[in-house]
Amino acid sequence: MSRRLRIALAGNPNSGKTTLFNAMTGAHQRVGNYPGVTVERREGVCRVGGVEIEVVDLPGTYSLTAYSIEERVARDAILDPDLDLVIDVVDASNADRNFYLTTQLIEIGKPVVIALNMSDVARANGVEMNLERLSALFSAPVVETVGHRGSGVQELLKAALARAERNAFPPPPRLRYGDALDAALDALSARPDAQAAAARLGVPARWLALKLLEEDNAIVERVAETGLREAARALARPIAERAGDRIEALTADARYGFISGVCHAALRQTAQARHTHSDRIDAVVTHWLFGIPIFLLMMYAVFRFTFALGEPLMGILERLFEGLGGWVGGRWPEGSESLLRSLLVDGVIGGVGGVITFLPNILLLFFAISLLEDSGYMARAAFVTDHLMRHFGLQGRSFIPMLLGFGCSVPGIMATQTLEQGRARLATILVLPLMSCGARLTIYALLIPAFFPRHLHARVMWIVYVVGIAAALALARLLRTTVLRGDSPPLVIELPPYRWPTLRGALLRMATQSGLYLRKAGTIILGISIVLWALTTFPRRTEFERDYAAEAEAARGAYAEAAARALGVPLDAADVAAERVDELADRIADLCAHFGERIAQAERAGNTTEQLTLLAARDAGLARLRDAAPAEFDRTARYLDEARIPRDEALEAIALARQMERMTHSYAGRIGRWLEPAIRPLGFDWRIGTALIGAFAAKEVFVAQMGIVFSIGEQNLSTLRERLRAEYSPITAFSLLLFCLLSAPCMATIAVTRQEAGGWRWAALQFFGLTAVAYAVSLVVYQVGSRIWV
Ligand code: GDP
Ligand code: MG
Repeated sequence: MSRRLRIALAGNPNSGKTTLFNAMTGAHQRVGNYPGVTVERREGVCRVGGVEIEVVDLPGTYSLTAYSIEERVARDAILDPDLDLVIDVVDASNADRNFYLTTQLIEIGKPVVIALNMSDVARANGVEMNLERLSALFSAPVVETVGHRGSGVQELLKAALARAERNAFPPPPRLRYGDALDAALDALSARPDAQAAAARLGVPARWLALKLLEEDNAIVERVAETGLREAARALARPIAERAGDRIEALTADARYGFISGVCHAALRQTAQARHTHSDRIDAVVTHWLFGIPIFLLMMYAVFRFTFALGEPLMGILERLFEGLGGWVGGRWPEGSESLLRSLLVDGVIGGVGGVITFLPNILLLFFAISLLEDSGYMARAAFVTDHLMRHFGLQGRSFIPMLLGFGCSVPGIMATQTLEQGRARLATILVLPLMSCGARLTIYALLIPAFFPRHLHARVMWIVYVVGIAAALALARLLRTTVLRGDSPPLVIELPPYRWPTLRGALLRMATQSGLYLRKAGTIILGISIVLWALTTFPRRTEFERDYAAEAEAARGAYAEAAARALGVPLDAADVAAERVDELADRIADLCAHFGERIAQAERAGNTTEQLTLLAARDAGLARLRDAAPAEFDRTARYLDEARIPRDEALEAIALARQMERMTHSYAGRIGRWLEPAIRPLGFDWRIGTALIGAFAAKEVFVAQMGIVFSIGEQNLSTLRERLRAEYSPITAFSLLLFCLLSAPCMATIAVTRQEAGGWRWAALQFFGLTAVAYAVSLVVYQVGSRIWV
């Protein structure tokens, strides 16, 4: 019969919990949230010796007081009576600090197994570990592990199983808190009401007494026995008064004393450790002068990486959706006016496809950020920027949520939960959307290649991001000197040692993020695409200003004439003659189209050799056709150039004009036109106005909407870019880039801001404030720029 065992991984942030968790559970895991809070909850299962083990990866904490959400969540999970055992993941290279949590875990009374993780780093630093002695001192099994290599993981699981099944360890050591406190603890824990309360909560009476003396509110609240609460307060007061400090400070001192004893007895550090690897890197990376430039370079490298690798992948997805759209559209006869066809092809495939096309860029960005974070550089970045951030009324720690904001503002704003409540946190939330999010990347990826030469792409992109950062800092400062005035508390930032990030960790994170993104694309974006499709389709235009049918007829007449001339036959025989050469013409056109696309692709990728090879192959193909029937070929070629191509172009122009008239007539066109006078000074017309409406709903929608406005399925990005280039100037494009960067964030962000900042007031300030700033900046850029440009 198989038994189930529940264990939890506890430990300091960055001690390697998640790495060990992944090594234990592999793919058998699920990620969710703890109820009511946005702290991530990871659970998985593994099997050891016929026993199924459920593993929970707890949030990282330094302590088990209840000051932060993470600590509270971790403590509640440990106190849960269904939990059989706790694995305490200790960063052995930082053992003294990590043991603080260990002492607290041991006091709770749950069976504990200690994983001495990062033992490779500890050894490299010259630390000698005496496992037996450690095990005796903590009265718990101790196993050495190296998480990212998976070594020691099986031993750890076996030790956990053995410990859960049979207790071969004496009761854990009793920490001594000094005579006065120890006496108070004894007195309190001996009371019958204390024992009753402890039994109800499932904790040792001594631990409960300790928490009551420490006035740990989360626990005090759960003790109904008022007599006990009173007694604890009465006992604590004289002790605190005599010591001139809070009880908590006294217990913390005692724990540190115990730890230094343990370290002295069981760990030895050799002299070579003085100047570690990490310190040497830090001397450069956190240098007062080089720190910031290195940071900016790192960011630049991240974006280069994202673009260089993302572009070809995007091309593939683009063609996939183009093919799908063509296939679905092909179910209907050509020129069909079917509403369903239009909904599926333009609304659903166009909208969702356009969003999914950008997935590679977003994945790569998250991959890069995850590498920076796991390597330990991110903490340095916070350290380097702390000084700077303080100038703007923010904290070094505000930096991490803001960095997350580069992916998506929503998790970024949620991550501000790690900051202390207060004005600095509010300011961080309000300006966070200025960190250009992944969804806005879609807009840049459309506009930048359309308007700027290749060698400037990365640079323009970089400018946009830097403008966002600068605006965020400036506005934060403005907020902190006006509506959010007040001091920020001093903060210490931990600098974890540098480590090689693992591919697995980065990939897992990428997978989670892509899941979130795709879910968004599948639901919100699908809904919005359909609404926008309806806005652009209805009311349907039935009577047109121009007689498009007659224009098309005229184009066909002109075609017959041109065809006759090219083929050298009388006008009335042109149609018959054309039919004859049409087959060859089609083959020529196909050949050119086939190679044309690949040549354009090679050119985009900057691969000149490939481009020349393809050109040669195309010409060889044409030469073969020509050799087969030279006279026929020449006539066909002339026919193509003089008659067919102009006809196709004329017909397409007529179709587009008709589409455009429809769009103008639709609701979206009307809203856009209504907005036009307001946005004209920024260089925008009604079509951009229409697309910006979509962008308010979700930034990704902008691209889809531009596609619809120009009647180009926006999975066909290159054609859309050509159209944009023909319609707008680079300065309009730049003004638009800045507007999209700075203006009101998407609906989802506004909603989270309301939730985290605690009120519509702040959400409204964010929405209108940012839009006003965007308007002002774009106005200046366009008005000044368009004067200099000419
Ligand atoms: P958590 O915050 O406790 O979940 O820590 P993670 O599991 O995310 O690990 C933080 C970093 O430490 C990652 O980059 C891991 O690859 C790395 N890491 C984990 N275990 C070890 C180890 O035993 N040795 C070394 N050198 N690195 C490790
Ligand atoms: Mg983790």
